[in-house]
This record gives sequence, structure tokens and C-alpha cells, in this order.
Amino acid sequence: MKLGKFDIDWLQGGVFRMDGGAMFGVVPRALWTRRYDVDEADNSIELLNACMLVRTPAGNVVIETGFGNKISDKLKKIYRVGPDWDLPGSLSGFGLEREDIDYVILTHCDFDHAGGAIMLGAGGEPELTFPKAKHIVQSVEWEDALSPNIRTKNTYLPENFTLLKDSDNLVLIEGGHEVVPGVRVELTGGHTRGHQVVWIESGGEHAVHMADLLPTHAHHNPLWVMAYDNYPLEAIEWKQELHERAEELNAWYLFYHDTYMKACRFGEKGKVTEKIQ
Ligand SMILES: [Zn+2]
Repeated sequence: MKLGKFDIDWLQGGVFRMDGGAMFGVVPRALWTRRYDVDEADNSIELLNACMLVRTPAGNVVIETGFGNKISDKLKKIYRVGPDWDLPGSLSGFGLEREDIDYVILTHCDFDHAGGAIMLGAGGEPELTFPKAKHIVQSVEWEDALSPNIRTKNTYLPENFTLLKDSDNLVLIEGGHEVVPGVRVELTGGHTRGHQVVWIESGGEHAVHMADLLPTHAHHNPLWVMAYDNYPLEAIEWKQELHERAEELNAWYLFYHDTYMKACRFGEKGKVTEKIQ
């Protein structure tokens, strides 16, 4: 899609399935199944890792990196991960190489967002997927990712951080930060302590990537938060606040996990009024 002078496109970060109940937290099944298709047999729903490519005059930005190609067989089986993670291949569809990416924004360090920042190369050795890119992460997120607790150790996987740790490719920030003119991040917490969202503006047009505060269009209601959120009350407050600002700007919402749409605009009561599939 075009946003002012910017091009926003989606890269192949893979398809997977997760328990619908966990994805919709305390929301009764009878309600969320009206808004998102469920597999009746096992209660799972289909999700994407739709990584974003934002091309701006000041640099190329990738937002989120998917599971990557080094995810374990065990996780592949649990989340029924498809074989289709291919950031390098899908980049070449836009005439770009891995070296052409200047910035990678990780909204947080869960393995479905950060796993593809380090990939196995042709010889089977780990390498940075985007070797020239500065990787933008909140410091508190990085701190938590490197010393996970009994719950987060299932999602902060050390193999996703090794090559970034202590490297010039890692840029740790505290709070709001402009990555390139028109692309800025904002620390929210809510899902994880160091979760950040991304605001994009060009030529007076706006988009927001709320990341795991709004995994799909069906999560528009501020109370519909995931059981995976570590700080659900904060997530609810942030969703109210971000919705208010996004609506005022008539912003596009960009989705990372939604299998039905890549972006949309919301109208009254969370109704989707425009969408990009
Ligand atoms: Zn996620």
C-alpha cells in the first residue's frame, strides 16, 4: 500500500495455528467465533506472521521478523508452523537484497516476532538476516529477554539473541524514538514490559502498528486482550489510548497476525470500513 511517499508491503513471515481461547483471553468462545474463524475440531485459529517492509526516502525498514528458519521441530509441531518463512525470498520480489535493509524494528522479543532476525545461512550456521540493519529494541525488553522468568522462558529463546547481543547492529532505546523521518516507535508495555508500537506518517497520511496489543482486527474491543498478555490491565488502557489517537488521525491499522487482512480502517463500534487483504 501507498502511504504518502512511503510504500508499505508485507513479507513472508509464515503461517501458524494457535488455540483460539488463548488468543482471546476471557472473551467467551460464542462471541469471538463470530469474528474469527475457528477449527471446530481443535479450537485452533489460523494466524500469520506478516512482517512489514516500509520503504521510505530515508531508508528501508522491516518491522518484525517471524519465526525464522531455525525454529525447533517441537515448536513447529505445537504451533503447526508452515514451511513458508522466507524473508530473503519475498524481499527479492521488491528488488531488494538482505543488505538493503537499514533498520529492523522488533516490537518485542517473543519468538514469533524476533525469531527471524537471525537465520541459518546456506552452510547451516546462524547469521543476521539483515546484516547491515540497526535493530531497534526497547532496553527493558532486551533486559527481560536475556533474563527470562519461569513463564517468559518459553518465548524468549536465547538462540534469537546471540548474534545481536553486544553487536553494533543492536540499538537499545528507552521510550519514544524516531527510526527514520516518518517512522517512530512508542513504548507501551501491556503485552510484555518492553512492548513498543510503531507510528508511520507520510504526506499527512498515518498508519499504526499496534503489534500484539491488536493481533487481529477481531481484537478491536479494548477488553478483548490475549491470555498471553503479561500486563492485561495496561494492555486495555493502551488500546483505549491508541484507538483514540488513531481514530483522530484516520489512521490505517497494520496487522501482523491477522489471516484475513493486512491493514484496515475502523469505523463505529470497531466495524471494519476499509481493508487491504
Ligand atoms: Zn505475536
